[in-house]
Amino acid sequence: MTGSESRAQAIYQITNRTPIETEKTEPLSKIWATDVFNLDTMEEALAKNAFKAVKKTVQTGKPLDAATADIIAAAMKDWAMAKGAKFFSHIFFPLTNATAEKHDGFIISNTDGGAITEFTGSLLIKGEPDGSSFPNGSIRATNAARGYTAWDPTSPAYVIHTDNGATLMIPSVFMSWTGEALDKKIPLLRSNDAMNNAAQKVLSLMGETDIATLNSSCGAEQEYFLIDSNFANARPDLLLAGRTLFGAPSAKGQEFDDHYFGAIPARVQVFMQDFEDQLYRLGIPAKTHHNEVAPGQFEIAPYFENANVAADHQQQMMTLLKSTAKRHGFLCLLHEKPFAGINGSGKHVNWSVGNSTQGNLLDPGKTPHENLNFLLFCGAVIRGVHKYGPLLRAVIASAGNDHRLGANEAPPAILSVYLGEQLEKVFADIQTGQITSSISGGKMDLGLDQILNFERDPGDRNRTSPFAFTGNRFEFRAVGSQASVHGPLIAMNTMLADSLEWIATDLEKQLSSGKDQTAAVIATLKSLMDDHGQAVFGGDGYSEEWHRAAVEDRGLKNIPTTADALPAYRSPEVIELFESTGVLSPTELNSRFEVYSEQYVLAIDVEAKLTIDLAKTAIYPAAIRYLSDLSMTNTGMAELGIDMDNSVAVKVAQETNAMMAAVAALTAALETEGFSSTEDHLQHCANNICPAMLEVRSHADALEAEVADELWPLPKYQEMLFIK
Ligand code: ADP
Ligand code: MG
Repeated sequence: MTGSESRAQAIYQITNRTPIETEKTEPLSKIWATDVFNLDTMEEALAKNAFKAVKKTVQTGKPLDAATADIIAAAMKDWAMAKGAKFFSHIFFPLTNATAEKHDGFIISNTDGGAITEFTGSLLIKGEPDGSSFPNGSIRATNAARGYTAWDPTSPAYVIHTDNGATLMIPSVFMSWTGEALDKKIPLLRSNDAMNNAAQKVLSLMGETDIATLNSSCGAEQEYFLIDSNFANARPDLLLAGRTLFGAPSAKGQEFDDHYFGAIPARVQVFMQDFEDQLYRLGIPAKTHHNEVAPGQFEIAPYFENANVAADHQQQMMTLLKSTAKRHGFLCLLHEKPFAGINGSGKHVNWSVGNSTQGNLLDPGKTPHENLNFLLFCGAVIRGVHKYGPLLRAVIASAGNDHRLGANEAPPAILSVYLGEQLEKVFADIQTGQITSSISGGKMDLGLDQILNFERDPGDRNRTSPFAFTGNRFEFRAVGSQASVHGPLIAMNTMLADSLEWIATDLEKQLSSGKDQTAAVIATLKSLMDDHGQAVFGGDGYSEEWHRAAVEDRGLKNIPTTADALPAYRSPEVIELFESTGVLSPTELNSRFEVYSEQYVLAIDVEAKLTIDLAKTAIYPAAIRYLSDLSMTNTGMAELGIDMDNSVAVKVAQETNAMMAAVAALTAALETEGFSSTEDHLQHCANNICPAMLEVRSHADALEAEVADELWPLPKYQEMLFIK
């Protein structure tokens, strides 16, 4: 089949498809968390003492003794086997955005050659995958391949099903033989500890006596695209790079604003219900779903949870989105920019910190000016964003997210904080040395009897801010859609830990100078705002004026690309931040820089190779075929005395030549070697390879607008986005 035939075939297949058979959805009460070995399951399965011990571990992180681990392992095995599992796997989060699993059987054979099953506490606690094929950023030599996974009892184990069986999955951390973190869970847990320790100090100084362990919480909104797999299979760029490397804009895009919150197409609704039922079985609280701005784009958000569990659940969700989409005949695209010219996808990471005794410390209540704990924690966030803006930029940096940040659809590549009118005023008052009152939102009264009045939020929303206060939490809006939430959560918890340490030190000084509590808090916050208030910005983050003022007047950094962003991992402030909080050692941090740099270089490399390949083997032949058709028709027509317009052929010839010249330039850029440093290599990708790819694309897209539709080899934007 030629490329253009497979395109026609794809449309035929889609328009004649029979809907897939799905099971009727069950009531929530019947399916909720049925595949999770959670506290409820354990309470049923375990003796009282063992249950008490494990509950304590789950709630406070206190270590478990070996005997209890054995008891839990046995109960876990029985529970999983009753659900059809013959295998178990530690699941962990290496330094890619993916998850990793190594499956082991419960089976062992006894001396008589019979099969019995065994699962001991030590198997539960520790696994040993050969770690040498996971990126480690030169923490280990390949001959030192030993890596360990270790059970994280604070995130529940669960069972996943395939058509003919099930596997017990055990959330785990992953470390080297030398004890260095090779994953994203270890620093997330450490960052939470660091935040808890510092928060305890501040709250004690504030006179709190009963202070439960503080935890960070996360609710992540996930955007994605669904494309019929018949189209996707005819687009090697979508399959291998996750985004279209070519494609002229569709005549209709998102300009009518008719997709956002629109009626969800029936086929997608069926997919979502199937997907969410699986989430519910796994105890993942899927809460909202809707159409997003771009055609073919959707969003799902679960209810927020403890950050460690939320991060595990987020990874499960991404895996399930893809596998469920496949069953429904879709390809799910988690890439940040699958299609040029329409919105890309992000992942808003909603984040707060709190505990069971003081509640959510980022909840201002009705009168934030009187809520001193809130003001301190909110101030700590402001300081963090200002002081560690480049780190926040680095943790969201990826080849994919570079297409979003800075384009006027997603937050800019400048890190600032949006507080809303009410809090902006409170913090401005603090800077002048006195706080008097908070503006309230007031009543929303439409003057319609049938619509009940409600209390308006005290602040509006700001879509153009990368980091926005949204009522009782901060929303990190600049995170990429395929990124794991670990990096952003680690950075936020750690910067908060650092700021709270600073606050504790300063507050202690203020208090011991004889000030009363309110005066001391105001003095600490005033000094904090004098140094860091420049990060607070409530205006239009897309405007040119902001791009100028942020950099020139406020000294904030505009960091446009991943190549510019990643070196922050090597800056002295960031090394010091992670070392002083105990979240990552300098070696562990540097390994992250190396791995993330390599991931970026590899992503660009794959895209560049595909660009060359598709230009040469799919687009060039189509253009030449069309030229040859045109020239033959031309001769025939001339004999008949019909005047032919040669301009199309001339344009096609020009664009074809230009495209092949650009392919040659891209090939040369790709073959460049001998970089003096990783930083140098990153810059080469951003400044030479990426522009060279765009140049090839611009001519290919121009050809798409000229070449006869029946010859065009790749499914077009309007087909992929609008045919379902
Ligand atoms: P919106 O689109 O209005 O930002 P959504 O309802 O789509 O809101 O998503 C908001 C996310 O924020 C949800 O995952 C929600 O559970 C989460 N969230 C709400 N309160 C908190 C909180 N205190 N801490 C962390 N996340 C929260
Ligand atoms: Mg949101």
